[in-house]
Amino acid sequence: MRRRFLLAAVLGLVAAGPAQAQDAHQTAHPATPQVGGQAPGYYRLFVGRFEVTALLDGTHPFPSDKVAVGASVDEVTGALKAAFLPLRYEGMINAFLVNMDRRLVLIDAGAGNLYGTEGGGLKRAIIAAGYTPEDVDDVFITHLHEDHAGGLVLDGKPLFANAVVHVARKEAAFWLDSRNQASVNDLLKPFFPAVQKVVAPYQKADRLALFDEGAALLPGLTPIAAPGHTPGHSVYLLQDAGQSMLFWGDTVHIAPVQFPHPEVSIRYDWNVPIAVASRRMLLDRAAAGGWLVAGAHISFPGIGHIRAEGKGRYEWLPVNYTLNRDHP
Ligand SMILES: [Zn+2]
Repeated sequence: MRRRFLLAAVLGLVAAGPAQAQDAHQTAHPATPQVGGQAPGYYRLFVGRFEVTALLDGTHPFPSDKVAVGASVDEVTGALKAAFLPLRYEGMINAFLVNMDRRLVLIDAGAGNLYGTEGGGLKRAIIAAGYTPEDVDDVFITHLHEDHAGGLVLDGKPLFANAVVHVARKEAAFWLDSRNQASVNDLLKPFFPAVQKVVAPYQKADRLALFDEGAALLPGLTPIAAPGHTPGHSVYLLQDAGQSMLFWGDTVHIAPVQFPHPEVSIRYDWNVPIAVASRRMLLDRAAAGGWLVAGAHISFPGIGHIRAEGKGRYEWLPVNYTLNRDHP
């Protein structure tokens, strides 16, 4: 009601009040319209000498009530309400660029066109951050889901003209073989043709590289197998000068629910018990190590620390904003 009144007032539809009150609010120019939108989605910080840029591909209303496994709709609603969030709060699609001196590395590629208009902002964010997609030397994919690999192709063209795309061998073997489609739930079946299509041009150009568990990727960047969400879901640990950042892909989707209750999973998980075990393992290691964590689906920039609260519960502590390079 109040909003409607204010809008009417802006449009001049409400009868003017006493002359004195009206004068007090008059300006020399017409009312400035609201602009809307946000700043380009990038955020920068350093891990040792490595420059990390968080990139926002897009946001979309996340159907947490429909996809949570191991928590009732009431429990999910309650946890979100306590966090001042509606049930269909905006989910993030984050990706991360790491400038490692000699190589420009992208970790995950966003959704590209595969999420309709809700993704596809990655290219804009890369350019706003001072780089171009052609600058990227390596793309490391945490897993071959649409919102992590979809952005390898944008508007029908491979976006990263000079990059090698790295995927865990187990992950590629699963999603690039359509015979496995029969083994997954209906939510996951469309992922097979979608990801095969975006990976194909890189495969054809001999720019798809498969790595084995525990492989040495680049000095300072180590993969950790964290299966469950997908068979070959892999996370990446960046380390330099005593600092560590874990790029953990889809370890947490619904932050207000899964940090205090890591046993809650989502229907997009390939194997729920294995996903829960991997989540607990990563939460434990990140909390114990004091590591920074970079999450694909945590509120932008999706970077923070984990605090162990005891009894298998955890808390998410977002990073403090800084304009200074040497911020710890
Ligand atoms: Zn995801």
